[in-house]
This record gives sequence, structure tokens and C-alpha cells, in this order.
Amino acid sequence: MKYNCTRNNNEQVSFKEAVINGLTQQGGLYIPEHIPTLPSSFFDKIEEMDDQDIAFKVLAPFVTESLNDEELKQVIAETLVFPTPVVPVTENVGALELFHGPTQAFKDVGARFMSRCLSHFYDGKEVIILVATSGDTGSAVASGFYDVPGVTVKILFPKGKVSPYQEFQMTSLGKNIHAIEVDGTFDDCQALVKQAFNDGGLRKEIAISSANSINAARLLPQMLYYFFAYKQLKAKLGNKRLVVSVPCGNLGNLTAGIIAKKIGLPIERFVAANNANDTFYNYLKTGEYNEKSSVLTYSNAMDVGAPNNFERLQYIYNNSLEAIKKDISSSTYDDAATLQKIEDCKNNNNYLLDPHGAVGKLALEASLAKNEYGVFLETAHPQKFSEVIQKVIPSYESEKVDLSNCSKENMGNNYTELLQQLTVKVK
Ligand SMILES: *Cc1c(COP(=O)(O)O)cnc(C)c1O
Repeated sequence: MKYNCTRNNNEQVSFKEAVINGLTQQGGLYIPEHIPTLPSSFFDKIEEMDDQDIAFKVLAPFVTESLNDEELKQVIAETLVFPTPVVPVTENVGALELFHGPTQAFKDVGARFMSRCLSHFYDGKEVIILVATSGDTGSAVASGFYDVPGVTVKILFPKGKVSPYQEFQMTSLGKNIHAIEVDGTFDDCQALVKQAFNDGGLRKEIAISSANSINAARLLPQMLYYFFAYKQLKAKLGNKRLVVSVPCGNLGNLTAGIIAKKIGLPIERFVAANNANDTFYNYLKTGEYNEKSSVLTYSNAMDVGAPNNFERLQYIYNNSLEAIKKDISSSTYDDAATLQKIEDCKNNNNYLLDPHGAVGKLALEASLAKNEYGVFLETAHPQKFSEVIQKVIPSYESEKVDLSNCSKENMGNNYTELLQQLTVKVK
């Protein structure tokens, strides 16, 4: 399998190069040159296969030439170390819980997969993983890459805009994990990272790679939990069609779901759930894509005004708004609605949502038809957002974190300071 650039059809690389480079030379994203389908016999028997086997069959075509079968199996075994159950919430709605990993958010899957791929690719050359985070990516990357030989991790996070729990997960490990607090927003952090990747001079000097959801190795394994969800639900679905609602930020999860559907997974359609950062919602509504500055919400991992996987979706759908709208609808909810949903769902269904899952469930229920069964992704454990939960469920016990022994660097929102951060520690 070769990987194309979303901006220029002449640049083709292997999976390995796509993972190491992160972004293309043109500043675009890597995308598989084609999406291989699985036969219907695969889906007929999916409930008889174990998850590792499903993962291998789904991912193998995407990594050929870069990982052999044994290596891929090992990467998968080290990635899938926690369950992703679908938990019934109402009669026709289930929560796909993706938060049973080490940092309690779905990003553990992609981060673990990517770090294991990189350690297979490691050839003695030191790599800096440069990553911008609105919270969960940083935690997952810190945990997934901790103590991986040959890798130093630099995490840029927006000052005052991540939860104490997330900050703790990023700043408490030490060793090869460096957390840097930026005086700016998540979009500022992301823009700084992009600038570094577009800086030819810098890239000649040091090897930097990205662990953001722009990295192909983050994106691809995220397909798996859609397969696992279908496997769990198949018997229950009967004649109902499966609809999946995805709480969206950078659109990585959604893009992975769309690729899974293109592979042949029987998902009828997707719902893109937005909080007040509604760039994608507005695009579907108006056909115009206008990036915005991000605004802070209770579902902060979705606070993205310029979702970077948008380019991949455009590429997959050949820039056709009509084609995208056939597969994806969207709605948007503010913080008040999010809180209300957390409270209602606890009272009526005895299920505790986190703020991201709450937005996902709202969007799902607004769109679900009678002949459909809906699943929303529960992307983070409620405990990571106890400050929000407590606003409506005061008795909710919060996880106490102690930041006093944690270490972080600080920088202003400017590229010169980023360069200092990168080169000082490299020597
Ligand atoms: C990252 C994240 C999201 C957004 O996912 P994208 O793939 O960036 O769209 C949603 N919820 C949580 C908890 C996250 O960590």
C-alpha cells in the first residue's frame, strides 16, 4: 500500500515513511492510495473471530512493505490491551466505551499503535515527536511513548485549557516526555506544530515526527473499534441499521469510521457531533468551509476550530459535498445542553456520560429513526471531567490529582520560542 498526499498526487510514500514524516512535503496529509474492501463473508462470520484477528485482517493491507505479519501481530497485541464494550443505555441506543485504556480516552489506541510502529522502524536515529494537544492526545501520547527508545516527546498544550487530570497525565511521567505549556489556544499550538513541519531548515537539522491524529498510524487503528462494535451488536441489530455518532474535534475518529465503512463495515451512516466549535457542522449546512478560532467548552477535546482531518474527508469524497452528506449529518450543542444531558441521562438511564459522550448522545438522538440502532462513542471516562460532572451531580467523587511534583516548561505563542524548546533539549 502506498500513501498519497491530500494536496499533490505526485508524492507517494510507504506506510513507514508516512508515519515517520507525519505531514507530507506539501504540508498535506497522507491518505491510503485506495481503500481495500473486505468480502461479505468476513462480516458474516465476524462474531466468530477474536479481536486480534479482526484487527490483523483489517490493518494488514494498509501496512504491507513496512511491517511483516509477525510485526503487525505484535503491534496489535500491544495496542489492544483493554476492552471497548458497547453498553446499552436505552432500548435503541448504546455507548461504545473507548475509555478503558491507560489514560482513559480513545486516543490510547492510536498512540499505542503508533509508538509500537515507530519502535519497529527505529534505526538508531533519534526522533522528536512533536504534538499539539487540547488534552487527551497529550496524555495518550505521553503514556504510549513513555520510555520508548530513540524517541523524545514534546507536547504543546494550551495554558489553563486542559483539566487538572489531563495535565497530570502529561506532566507527571518525566524521562523522555516533555510537556510545554503555551500561552495560547489549542489552535495556536497546532499552528506552531504545523509551522515546524513546514520548516525545511529545521527538518534538515532534526528528525521530527507528529503524533497528532494527522499521523496515519494514529488514524488507522481507530477503525478497529467500529468493527468491534459491530461484532458485539450484530445479533442484536436484526433488521435495524446501525448509526454511529462521533463527538468530533479534529475529525480523526470520524475519518477512521468512514474508512471502516468504505472497507465494507455495515454502518448505515454517521452523525458528526459538534460542540460550539461547529466548523464542520457549518460546512455541511452551507457547503462553505470556514475555519474559526476555537472556543473553550466543557467538552474541551472537541474544541477545534480548524479540524485537520477535514482534508482527508474531502479527499475521500472527491470534494463532493453531496457525497459527504449522504454518509454524514451533523448537529451542534452548547455547554448548557451538554450539562442537561449529563443530568438527564444519569437520572433517566442511570448512565454517567462524560461531556464529549453527552454531545455525541444528543446528536444521535436528534437524528435516530425507528428502524435504526444508534451508538455514540464515549470517548473519555467521566472521571477525567469531574469538575464538569459535579456542576449537575454534586455528589460525584472527583479524582484528586497532585500537580506539585509534576514538571512542565512554559512558552509564549511564538515560533522562536518553540525552536528554542526543540533545539535546547536535542543537544
Ligand atoms: C480527541 C477527542 C475527541 C475528538 O476526536 P477527533 O478524532 O479529534 O475528532 C473527542 N473526545 C475526546 C474525549 C477526545 O479525547
